[in-house]
Amino acid sequence: MRAVVCVPGGTELAELPDPVPAPDGVVVAVDACGLCGSDVHMVEHGRAVPGQVLGHEFAGRIVAVGRDAGRWRIGQPVAVNPLGGCGSCQPCRRQLPFRCQALPNLGLTAPGAYAEYVAVPQAQLVALPAEVEPEVGAHAEPLAVALRAVRLGRPVPGEPALVYGVGSIGLNVIMALRLAGAGTIVAVGRSAGRRAAAEALGADVVLDSRVTPPAEYAAEHGLAFGTAYECSAAVGALAETVAVLAPGGVAVQVALNSAPESLDARGLVGRGLTVVGSCAFDADDYAQAVGHLLAGRIDGAALVSERVALAEVPETLVRLRRPGDLVRVLVRP
Ligand SMILES: [Zn+2]
Ligand SMILES: [Zn+2]
Repeated sequence: MRAVVCVPGGTELAELPDPVPAPDGVVVAVDACGLCGSDVHMVEHGRAVPGQVLGHEFAGRIVAVGRDAGRWRIGQPVAVNPLGGCGSCQPCRRQLPFRCQALPNLGLTAPGAYAEYVAVPQAQLVALPAEVEPEVGAHAEPLAVALRAVRLGRPVPGEPALVYGVGSIGLNVIMALRLAGAGTIVAVGRSAGRRAAAEALGADVVLDSRVTPPAEYAAEHGLAFGTAYECSAAVGALAETVAVLAPGGVAVQVALNSAPESLDARGLVGRGLTVVGSCAFDADDYAQAVGHLLAGRIDGAALVSERVALAEVPETLVRLRRPGDLVRVLVRP
């Protein structure tokens, strides 16, 4: 099969042996896979192991079924939860399968979906209805990240919410907040195209932080945010986010910072604030995401800026280092 493999300094198209299903797994022909910012960073900073196949936001159709996976059918469309998990270790019991050491994660520690085919354990499959285009399922992974983050932020219906950063995750958080019944949603972003997307997807106010800092806007309009999401990884953004919380408010750090951030801890006690990190998602978050997409409560396709072929993945991963107005790019192997 054709696959995009990591090589020193980047990625390249290669020919690999077709995967075979494990006894309790299947092989999925990849219909669509999102090109994730975390993959862009891994390649850019040389953290990917040479030969590794990345890609973890995917869905497709089953093309081979293992001996003990007989309830799955060839041709069946499925969304794939890339995160395994033993279900019994301490991280798994705390709903953090991302930290489970027992099972590989597809596209991270096991071959992923920048490829024609992927071997998938059956426990990581979510069935899609036969009539559904499998691409729908490729939106479930970033939406699951957003659903987890919004749950941890404990939004109160009708209360204002702040979303700092409008990349793929920030935009998914906006959609999840709308679904949760948040009041005024204020989004903060730099790229004009992504700010427009934030507005189209449900943000009531979209600020350019270089022109209007959120604290200035909040003071002018008497807004105090009950819940706020830092999705930008910009230096100082967490402190800005915490500063505009209402008493008792919750700030959720969703973006992965590349350097330490400092925070004035006095407000945490004085104003009764909560600051929490949101790490990936678990199988329930993922299944909920698929449910929202299938029911049409969330339109994942609204985020897609481009669809590319497998051979275009190496140059697209380079292009996404400066994403500009691009929101989400899908590869259709
Ligand atoms: Zn991702
Ligand atoms: Zn585990």
